Amino acid sequence: MAKAVLITGSNLGDTKAYMTAAQQAIEHHVGRIVAASGLWESEPWGFEAPQRFLNQVLVVETALSPEELLTATAAIESHLGRTHKGEFSPDGQRCYHSRTMDIDILFYDNTVYRSPRLTIPHPLLQDRAFVLGPLCEVMPEYVHPVLHQTIRDLDRALSKKNENA
Ligand code: ADP
Ligand code: MG
Repeated sequence: MAKAVLITGSNLGDTKAYMTAAQQAIEHHVGRIVAASGLWESEPWGFEAPQRFLNQVLVVETALSPEELLTATAAIESHLGRTHKGEFSPDGQRCYHSRTMDIDILFYDNTVYRSPRLTIPHPLLQDRAFVLGPLCEVMPEYVHPVLHQTIRDLDRALSKKNENA
């Protein structure tokens, strides 16, 4: 069994209900949830939207490989009604949309993994306060296998950077 760390996020419709539904689907299709952060509210990142996000970090014991895990989380996103997926605007920028459910894979044990559809650890987690906040609640002492810093230190570094911005 591997320990996968996921973050779920929703900013469309009944967000709280989507977070609960995602937890249930993850228990059913991915594995046992062994730790969970509280629900964190945040502003949309990278785009404007009328509704705030709810985010939650979940630690899941799973028998799935990283690629199988991504297939499973993508299926759960679709099942929960997500329509836009990894789109780009005509000038080549990533475009972000409101979504009923987004599930990102943050860590998978201490694995460092890259394929055309999957990068682990998640490459932007150190830049996102809405990830580091709930992650800090669940595993502050965990050492990022590429950056070699604890989650707490990454969270402090980002807060400092944002204060000075
Ligand atoms: P975002 O989560 O950045 O808003 P999407 O959910 O639309 O973007 O994901 C875009 C693509 O990112 C997915 O189709 C997936 O193949 C890819 N991807 C790469 N690494 C990861 C990861 N660690 N977790 C989730 N998706 C990933
Ligand atoms: Mg995603």
